[in-house]
Amino acid sequence: MSQEHKGYVPLSRPEWDTLTRQLSSLLSTQHAPVIIPGEAILGIEAVAAGISAPGRTILNVVTGPYGTLFGEWLERGGATVVEVEVSFDEVVTANAVQTAIEKYSPCALSFVHAEVVTGGSNPARDILKIARGFNLITVMDSVSAVGGEDLLVDEWAADFVAIGAQKALAGPNGVSAVSISPRGWEFLETNSHAPRNSILSLLDLKPNAKGTAPLRVPPNIPALEARALITALERVEEEGLEQLIRRHERAAASAHAGIKSLGLEPWQKDSRFYSTLTTTVRISGHDSLRIEQPIGIVAPGDGELFGQLLRINHFGVNASRQGVEEAIRTIAQLLNQQPDHAIRAVAQAWGQDT
Ligand SMILES: *Cc1c(COP(=O)(O)O)cnc(C)c1O
Repeated sequence: MSQEHKGYVPLSRPEWDTLTRQLSSLLSTQHAPVIIPGEAILGIEAVAAGISAPGRTILNVVTGPYGTLFGEWLERGGATVVEVEVSFDEVVTANAVQTAIEKYSPCALSFVHAEVVTGGSNPARDILKIARGFNLITVMDSVSAVGGEDLLVDEWAADFVAIGAQKALAGPNGVSAVSISPRGWEFLETNSHAPRNSILSLLDLKPNAKGTAPLRVPPNIPALEARALITALERVEEEGLEQLIRRHERAAASAHAGIKSLGLEPWQKDSRFYSTLTTTVRISGHDSLRIEQPIGIVAPGDGELFGQLLRINHFGVNASRQGVEEAIRTIAQLLNQQPDHAIRAVAQAWGQDT
């Protein structure tokens, strides 16, 4: 009994402080992020519930399935939801966002930063800049961007940024975070429809008026997951965030070189907007790529993208030359091709290991 009990020592205040500091540093923000007692999707749903209200018009950008879901949650909260939707093999342009803002005059803008499902990464910095020009509250789902590309929360003036550790950060999925700016808190506090006494209530998790850590560690934070997250973020600090991002960039460049060498096309149309976490491959004309189950880090498309694309999930520990090579071998095998030339292309794109 006492052995079992040991696993449930609640998170200590120093551990809480460490995690808060690590998250702030990861996101380049001076405001303590809210630690979410669950998967990243919980934080995302909590943001939707917290900002939505009848009388508020919110512009939701849809570049993949998570954006669709976010729009549905906003609607449930009573907001008037207007959307910019693009074909899932493209990203949204800052111009299209600007046109929609001018057309609908929303009070807030939401979008997914980068999409592992489609392999696209939206021009977040440019979109936020435009939104700032119109004084909008901004919401960004950066679960599949953090650790794989730049994410400068304060400098970009993003009001709500949701992250999770289970993608590029190679951490646990049982605890996550939402960074909230002072303006973001005000937007929640002035919303009489924002949930209270609910798992969806961000206001219940507000650190305190000064934005510093709470006096006590909230009792609902899963301690084991929080400790695993601290460990994952220590590893990120050891490697260096810049290096981690570089590793994901190299993985994406190598994966693209590999598929090209196999005669395949990327699913995403514009090479300037490739996700660094996932490379998506257009299946059309290659029936043998219609796999039902993942093979290592090679996975079929999700939902409506099933049968249309293959994903190479080169993130976290799999953002490695070995990880990409293995995936390219798998795809070569599915195509019944010799992999050697493609493996050389991967190695060349990966470059020197330093
Ligand atoms: C993975 C992912 C999520 C979901 O995170 P979970 O913690 O698995 O619920 C949300 N948004 C995006 C863009 C993701 O890639």
